[in-house]
Amino acid sequence: MKLYLPAKVLLIAFALFLPSTVWANGSAESAKPSDLRWNSRIVRIALSSSLFQPQIGLRPGSDVEGALERSFKTWEAAANIKFVVTTTDNSTVSPAGKSGDGVSLVTIAPTAENLLFFAGDAEEVPARTRVFYNGKDAITEADIVLNPYQQFSTDGSAGTFDLESTLTHEIGHLLGLEHSFIIGATMQINQGRNGIYGLPAIAGRSLSEDDIAGVRAIYGPPAGVENCCGSISGEIQSASVRSHVWLEELSTGRVIAGTDSDSEARFSISGLTGGEYKLYSKPINLKGGSSVNDSGTVQVEAGKSIKIPSISSKRSSKTQLSYLGFSGQLSRLPVPVNGGKSFIIYIGGSGITEDSPDIFFNSPFLSISRGSLIRHDFSSDLSVFSFEISLSSDVPPGDYSIYYRAPGGSVDALPGGLSVGEVVNNWNSFQIPVN
Ligand SMILES: [Zn+2]
Repeated sequence: MKLYLPAKVLLIAFALFLPSTVWANGSAESAKPSDLRWNSRIVRIALSSSLFQPQIGLRPGSDVEGALERSFKTWEAAANIKFVVTTTDNSTVSPAGKSGDGVSLVTIAPTAENLLFFAGDAEEVPARTRVFYNGKDAITEADIVLNPYQQFSTDGSAGTFDLESTLTHEIGHLLGLEHSFIIGATMQINQGRNGIYGLPAIAGRSLSEDDIAGVRAIYGPPAGVENCCGSISGEIQSASVRSHVWLEELSTGRVIAGTDSDSEARFSISGLTGGEYKLYSKPINLKGGSSVNDSGTVQVEAGKSIKIPSISSKRSSKTQLSYLGFSGQLSRLPVPVNGGKSFIIYIGGSGITEDSPDIFFNSPFLSISRGSLIRHDFSSDLSVFSFEISLSSDVPPGDYSIYYRAPGGSVDALPGGLSVGEVVNNWNSFQIPVN
């Protein structure tokens, strides 16, 4: 099998996946605090009438009302938060500054102020959210602008952004959430257009475990959810750089939640469902690359906080995974896969010299088909491999990581890169017959 991977595909992939959010705050130059929240459990939103009028950016026939309603409900179902949604003829967001007009607006109108949101990168960014907050880190207003230069749809039309996925991501910001490094999370930084991997890019419509833990950490669980919320915290030994820290469910390998340690190497993950989890960390931006550290198992209990003894870290590595892919395209977007099927998956990384690299999963539901690993010629600084994975028909929905172990023992991962969810991926190589 030959992989056709023109440089153009990679370039397009790079260009597609830019950050979708800016944060405005009262004091210029200061970093956004990481614990912004609404003080009230009821958040009032005003929908601009521009959303319901014909717009160049809205594909005719799109179910705008349905997409809006579902994207708010998705977050309401995850945490103790309620939206009160009204409409307004106002179509322009509050300009950046100390405070706005107090109205949290969702708009798509191509007004001068709205277009300023996208100055410089209007071609790639689907939407942005501007959050205003006071000196006590309480959010006072959050405005969402759908990029009027982009095209949105609700039917998976190739080349457009999925309206509901975009809104769900931006509402996460409106609630105070930041980007996640978990590749399958709705709050991950990269937003793909429909058609990447030959599939609709609608996975962001539903929240991953990481998104759910993130919003519950701020607002608590919705009524009726008993098994919540535990938390873990700790410190990464002698780490001079920040680290990604994440948890995977011991029995299934599903990614549960992730966070980044702060500048003093401390981390905490809250909003967790009780369970037995494996704890991983990996220094980021360590010169030359770094290894994933396996810090063993933690037992999280609802309502309890656990302090982890300081975990070791800082192991440099010359090999790094950078991309994953499907259908001849490499990116940093999750690949949707389904139980009871097999798929040809690609990974790309640097410094991998072996012809048969040691690729593995933490999940008993995923396996690599023997003899399926192929090394592809790509470029001198990027090694690309493909392999076939098989998923048991009873694999639980969630995000699963791909791991690679270098000959020297260092390990790298693409956390949550494979997403088992609602998206049906019919480009499978094999399907277990159903009787
Ligand atoms: Zn974003």
